[in-house]
Amino acid sequence: MAKIKLATIWLCGCSGCHMSFLDLDEWLLELAEKVDVVYSPVASDVKEYPEDVDVCLVEGGVANEENLELIRIARERTKFLISFGDCAVTANVPALRNMLGGAEPVLKRCYLELGDANPQLPNFPGIVPELLDRVRPVHELVHVDLFMPGCPPPADRIQATIEPLLRGEKPVMEGREMIKF
Ligand code: SF4
Repeated sequence: MAKIKLATIWLCGCSGCHMSFLDLDEWLLELAEKVDVVYSPVASDVKEYPEDVDVCLVEGGVANEENLELIRIARERTKFLISFGDCAVTANVPALRNMLGGAEPVLKRCYLELGDANPQLPNFPGIVPELLDRVRPVHELVHVDLFMPGCPPPADRIQATIEPLLRGEKPVMEGREMIKF
């Protein structure tokens, strides 16, 4: 049986969802026999999101131009896209900055008003991605096939979500263990 091509991507999140993925511990060895990890910040150094990905776990909200480009490419090239954790599902903590009303007020607040030494706005065009005006959950920008809540989702929930996909079945996100925060 052909291995499933698995990707994970890290948008605007704290990496806690990926850390929870690593908490799968010895089950990762079983998983490694059934999937090829084709793109992930924790498992490969592939720079470009590949074609024909079967399953992708997306951590984080969409906060800047780089996030936006990556999620659009990932959607085009992935059969089954999962919003992985509350930042992807709702925008969660990163969206707290939305209250300031846009990218410019956020930059001014952080780099001018709260800057202790030599306050100045960052000016690295083409190097630091431009902030979007709002941090948005993934499904507001691309179609999402499944929502996996949690901050982070516990490891057993991640396993229970991936296992049906390995059998070619769609996971069912019902019951306390699958949706409790
Ligand atoms: Fe971090 Fe929680 Fe966001 Fe995951 S959902 S990236 S653990 S803040």
